Amino acid sequence: MDTTQDRFPTHRGRMTYVCLGCKARLDIAELHYTCPHCGEVLLLEDERFAALDRIAGIQWRKIFDLRAATRRCELKGVFRFYELIAPVLEPEDIVWLGEGNTPIIPASPALCSHVGQDLAFKNDGQNPSASFKDRGMACAFSYLKALIRRHGWDQVLTVCASTGDTSAAAALYAAYVGGAIKSVVLLPQGKVTPQQLAQPLGSGAVVLELPGVFDDCMKVVEHLAENYRVALLNSKNAWRILGQESYAFETAQHYAWDLADKAIFVPIGNAGNITAIMSGFLKLKRLGIIEVLPRIFGVQSAHADPVFRYYLERNAAKRRYHPVPVRPSVAQAAMIGNPVSFPRVRCFVEQYEQSGGPGLFHVIQVEEQAIIEGMLMANRHGHIACTQGGECLAGLLRARELGLMDKEELAVLDATAHSLKFIGFQEMYFANAFAPEYEIVPRRELVNRPHQVLSAEDKAGLSEPEYVLKAARSVVELLGLQSRD
Ligand SMILES: *Cc1c(COP(=O)(O)O)cnc(C)c1O
Ligand SMILES: [Zn+2]
Repeated sequence: MDTTQDRFPTHRGRMTYVCLGCKARLDIAELHYTCPHCGEVLLLEDERFAALDRIAGIQWRKIFDLRAATRRCELKGVFRFYELIAPVLEPEDIVWLGEGNTPIIPASPALCSHVGQDLAFKNDGQNPSASFKDRGMACAFSYLKALIRRHGWDQVLTVCASTGDTSAAAALYAAYVGGAIKSVVLLPQGKVTPQQLAQPLGSGAVVLELPGVFDDCMKVVEHLAENYRVALLNSKNAWRILGQESYAFETAQHYAWDLADKAIFVPIGNAGNITAIMSGFLKLKRLGIIEVLPRIFGVQSAHADPVFRYYLERNAAKRRYHPVPVRPSVAQAAMIGNPVSFPRVRCFVEQYEQSGGPGLFHVIQVEEQAIIEGMLMANRHGHIACTQGGECLAGLLRARELGLMDKEELAVLDATAHSLKFIGFQEMYFANAFAPEYEIVPRRELVNRPHQVLSAEDKAGLSEPEYVLKAARSVVELLGLQSRD
């Protein structure tokens, strides 16, 4: 293990929390989620980031391209980009469960021609717990391990509120790290899918259900984090944002560090993911690793759209942020009326437009019907999009309607979770079983149901050859098969 790609990076940063409100700097030796002075959310900053500038952008590209072939587990996941993420961790701290390096799949030719635009899905559902949340958890847990090692803590209770995927990821990483770490997750009862509920249960976490929606659970968890000794794993935890920046780094690397004429579509829920993605691209640009920032399109359902409403006002001076009450949404993982990371989005949108000019950032609002049909349409063309991935496709179609897309542009859609986590919504569509609040009416051409060939009574009393013949005849009739001669 002494080839370049297997050597652990030597650069060490000096990281501090920075408050987005009063700009206070806080030591990372303590767990902080909000500023003790003004209550605003925090970001993590490497005060030695400028030192990375000593290596030219083209050289960084080479380093990361080489490292893609590493045999070191610590560098196989999101820490391929160690220097840009959390260069204060030691190899022994790093947790790797196979997260990151998710494929970008060009959409099938039929889907591209249906949409009228070239597009691709980055399949973040191919992460270990089947959503992008693993990227952030890998970083948050690595940092937690470092803290435990330093302080010699013998018990750490990790907590999070969740629309389903945060708790699945948190429970998975907690189960793997074990030792001092115990995982507790708080879920809005009936507002996560059965698959998402099964995940933390299977990982052995303590699962607490509360009445209400995600925003209610989040308030309870915030109260716990402020008043008791617990480690918060929601994206309020700035270490998660760092890990999720890897999505931007991988996307850039996939396209050979050339992001001209690329538009990145991201669903917005608590707004941690879009924060991380913008932050990541900005870092790459600052170091000359990319020359052009891609355009960013956030997408929100009309049933949970506070960020869309904020940016609807074109005059920045007149914009006002208001949380919204949410209505039921098939993009349930993004069904959030008061996104914790909203101040971070505002901060990075400003930087983004300063660096790349206006028109680089948009938020698109889509209807529930378009979201579920976006998922069905993607998956009918060989993709594995969840409802939030479908939301991105709906967002792309809407952006085209609004005249915001360039014909030459390639749209890269974040399929944030695996379709199987949200398969209940597909079933509700196929069975026309949506409650009226969803405002979804299935279109016959998209509905697919199993066909029963024979009933159990038809089978009763038949010998095996009789059964085969009878069943085969029914199949032949059903499919209108032609005989071979
Ligand atoms: C968490 C989640 C989102 C929303 O991401 P935020 O960072 O909360 O904006 C979207 N899709 C899926 C599948 C998620 O799990
Ligand atoms: Zn502050």
